[in-house]
Parts: sequence; structure tokens; C-alpha cells
Amino acid sequence: MIRLYDTKQHKKVDFQPLRAGAVSMYVCGPTVYNRIHIGNARTFISFDTIRRYLEWRGFDVTFVQNVTDVDDKIIARAAEEGRTAAEVAAEYTEAFIDDMHRAGVADPTIRPKATEEMDAMIALVETLIDKGHAYVEDGDVYFSVRSNPRYGALSGRNIDEMEGGHRELRADADGHASVADRKHDPLDFALWKAAKPGEPSWPSPWGEGRPGWHIECSAMSEKYLGLPFDIHGGGADLVFPHHENECAQSECASGGTFARYWMHSGMLQVNAEKMSKSLGNFLLLHEVLDDVRPSALRMLMLQTHYRSPLDFSVERMNEADSALTRIENAVKNIDWLCSNATDGAPDALDAAALNVKATEAHAAFTDAMDDDFNAPAALGVIFTLVGDANAEVADKSLSVRDAEAAMVVRDKIVELLGVLGIEIVDNQGDGMASDYPVEVIALAADIAGYGGADAMEAVEALLEARKLARSEKDWARADAVRDGLVSLGFVIEDTPQGARVTYEG
Ligand code: AMP
Ligand code: ZN
Repeated sequence: MIRLYDTKQHKKVDFQPLRAGAVSMYVCGPTVYNRIHIGNARTFISFDTIRRYLEWRGFDVTFVQNVTDVDDKIIARAAEEGRTAAEVAAEYTEAFIDDMHRAGVADPTIRPKATEEMDAMIALVETLIDKGHAYVEDGDVYFSVRSNPRYGALSGRNIDEMEGGHRELRADADGHASVADRKHDPLDFALWKAAKPGEPSWPSPWGEGRPGWHIECSAMSEKYLGLPFDIHGGGADLVFPHHENECAQSECASGGTFARYWMHSGMLQVNAEKMSKSLGNFLLLHEVLDDVRPSALRMLMLQTHYRSPLDFSVERMNEADSALTRIENAVKNIDWLCSNATDGAPDALDAAALNVKATEAHAAFTDAMDDDFNAPAALGVIFTLVGDANAEVADKSLSVRDAEAAMVVRDKIVELLGVLGIEIVDNQGDGMASDYPVEVIALAADIAGYGGADAMEAVEALLEARKLARSEKDWARADAVRDGLVSLGFVIEDTPQGARVTYEG
């Protein structure tokens, strides 16, 4: 049984999806006025991991994520740059999708755009007006917060206490800086905004205008998932006002439950401060990925529980990279030992014990992730398995039977990491040769007459050349190969099974 922390109930609860075997999820997407930073990426990676895990556990997951492609910030950016809001939104929507692909985040099942869903939003606003939860003022439509006795239940706020600080709240509750004096109550927030000159607008029963931010998610989640749906997610900064307002709109319009479980990921911080555009302390995801492997960034993200704040630093990033390298080296080591296993070698491994270790790791990993998606504990299980595998195969020559047993553990390591979205085998299934420096191709061309363009083949050609040189007692040439490889960051070991190369970078 999966248990998860539900923000609304303020505790861990058993997760029982509405339809057995299926999960419907909605995770608020980005406002596309800029490239996303690694704080945004943390939230998207957290929910991608949760989704992958649910799929691995056999659920058929429908994952909806919107793109907010009309908004004050997009309009402001367009005005600054002399472009249309649609051009700005199109550029950053594409950039967002690219960034997500680079970060290894799977595409949502459906990615609706606000500007393409006007009918659904307008219909929802009409329902709220008809039911007495919203009113029209001068082409704007506002939600009447006091018409909803449950308002505040998600974020644990009390309406009357909220009013004390209402000046600040008025700006907050809209999710936008401007405060509309047309509101009947300072707590109310905009569902529809009358068009201002030069702004993008759509026709509506209340005149030309555009939707408020919160109504988008209410309309799109209902349209694509139906109500209620299982999990609503986003960063913890969205609990109030965004999710509180979504919940109020959808529950007042439908008369039933909106989302059955609410999940929120903690903030990524720098020096204990939230990473945000407004504080200027952000690192853009695509720039970080120019320097850091996506799998290492993910390792860093998953080393902290998704609900806890995550302190980002370059040192922690490097540690995560080294941790990943340790796992990769263990896998490469087993691959190498297995590819050199011989029929003649005596059985050196305790195959039964290795099988048990793999099975136990699978169960412990599942327990960790079933407990509110505890990825740090799940990674701990993988590290233990890696340690056990290293200890078992160390300094051994493997028989073909041993290789089979070792592969069970090796495949379990790769499988469990894959569930967390950390891929350590490249697309060709070749091991980690994609990390090899391209310079090795030139080295192989020089010393070994290699004519291709593949780093893995280049290393093989160099090792062949070295073997030949040694058999011919051409020590100078053999040393040239070794020195060349070492200078590029490779380590060469001579073993009874032949020379083996690892790349340490
Ligand atoms: P936005 O485009 O600002 O609506 O943000 C997109 C997503 O990123 C939302 O789910 C936010 O909660 C999330 N987010 C923003 N800043 C951070 C941060 N520093 N750490 C984690 N998530 C964040
Ligand atoms: Zn939303």
C-alpha cells in the first residue's frame, strides 16, 4: 500500500486511487515568460519521479500539465521586447519542453495550453456566476471568497484572520501585483479580466478579456481528467493562493471534491533562501545542464526527500556526481567481468546469495518509495546493493555461471535507478561510453590507425594496438598508448583477463 502526505489532511494517508489500477494526476506547469530555473526543475523532477514510480508499480497514470501562456509577466516581457505575447509564449514553451527533455522528465500525457482552452474557462466562470459564487464588475469577473465556507481548508487559513493583512493579501490572492478596486471584498480574486488596450484578449459574455491564472488549472484539470481526480501537485509555494483558489472554484462549481490528494514539493534554496526569479539568485536549468550530467542533477535532487527544502550548492552537486560515478563504475566493472567470463573458470560467486540480495533490494526499495516516495531511502537501498555487489565480485575471475548471477544484481541496480529516472546506460545499451572524451578518437587515429568516429571503438582500437605492440615487444608504442589514454583521464589495469580501461574523467 502506497502512503503519501496529503497537504489538505496534514498527514500521511493511504493512497487509494478512484479507479483501481489507474491514477489521474495534474501538476501545474510553468508560466512561459523565461527559461526555467533549477528550483522549478526540482518540482517537475519530483513529480516525474512520483509518476515513474506509480507506473512501475503497475498503475496506468494519466498525467496532465498545463502551460500558462497568457499572463501579466508574458505581456510585460513582450512589451519590453517589442514582440507579441504569443511570440514570447511560443519561444519559452518550446524552450521549456526542450529543457524537460534534457533533464530526462517524461512528457505529460496531455499538455494543454491556456490560450487554447478559453471555452472551458468561460463555461466554468459562467457556472460560478450562475451559482452565486462570482460577480461581474465592469467586464471583470471576481470569485466571491466568502461564498465558500470551506475556503482556507487546503492551506489551513482562517478567512477572518486573513483579512487582518488584507492589503498584502489583495495583491497575493490574485497572484498578480495589481489590486482591483472593483472587488466587493478584498479577499476576492479575478476569474476573468477585462482587456486593457494592446493586451491579448478573447471574446466572452462579459466582453473582451483574458482569464485569471487560477481558473486555467480548474478548467483544464476538469476537462482532461474529470472530477474528482486523484493527485494535484505543484511546488509548496503554490498552496496559497493558487491551489486554494483552484480548489474553491472547482468545488463551488461542481459541488463535489476537486482533487482527492494534494501533494507539494519543497523549495530548492540557495543559502537557505528560496531560489526565485524575483530574488535574482537563480540558476537556469539549461545552463546548469551545459556543465552537469542530467542524471547527476537528478541524483542531487533525489538525495533530499521531495517535501523537504533542498539546499543547492556546487559542492553538493559535485558530491552527487561522484555518487553516481561510484554506481556507474560498479556496473561497468560487472559488465567487464561478465564479458570476460570463461567456461573454464571455477564458480567464484555465491549465486544464491546474490539472488537474495537483489530480491531484498527490490522489496526494500518498494517499501521506501511506498512510504511517501522516500527517494533518499530508496537510493540508500541501491547504494547498499552496489556495495554488496562490489564486495562479492572484487578480485574475482568469473565463470559463465557467475556472470549470470552477477547480471541479476547488475540489472536490478540499473532497473531501480531507472525507476527514479536516473539512466546509467546510454541509448545504444553500450554502457557509459557516451562519457568518453572525443579526443580519444584523434589519439586512436594517430597511434592505432583508427578511421572511425566512435569513442568506444577508438578505445578498443587503442587496446588492440597496445596488445599487438607488447606481443612484438615494441614497448615504446605500448607505452605511448597507455600514456595517451592516461592523459585523457582513463585508467588502465592489466588483469589475467587482459587490459581493462575505465574512464574517471
Ligand atoms: P511558476 O512558473 O513560477 O508557476 O513555477 C513553476 C513551478 O515551479 C511551480 O510548481 C512552483 O511551485 C515551482 N517552483 C518555483 N520556485 C521553486 C523553487 N525554488 N523550488 C522548487 N519549486 C519551485
Ligand atoms: Zn495550477
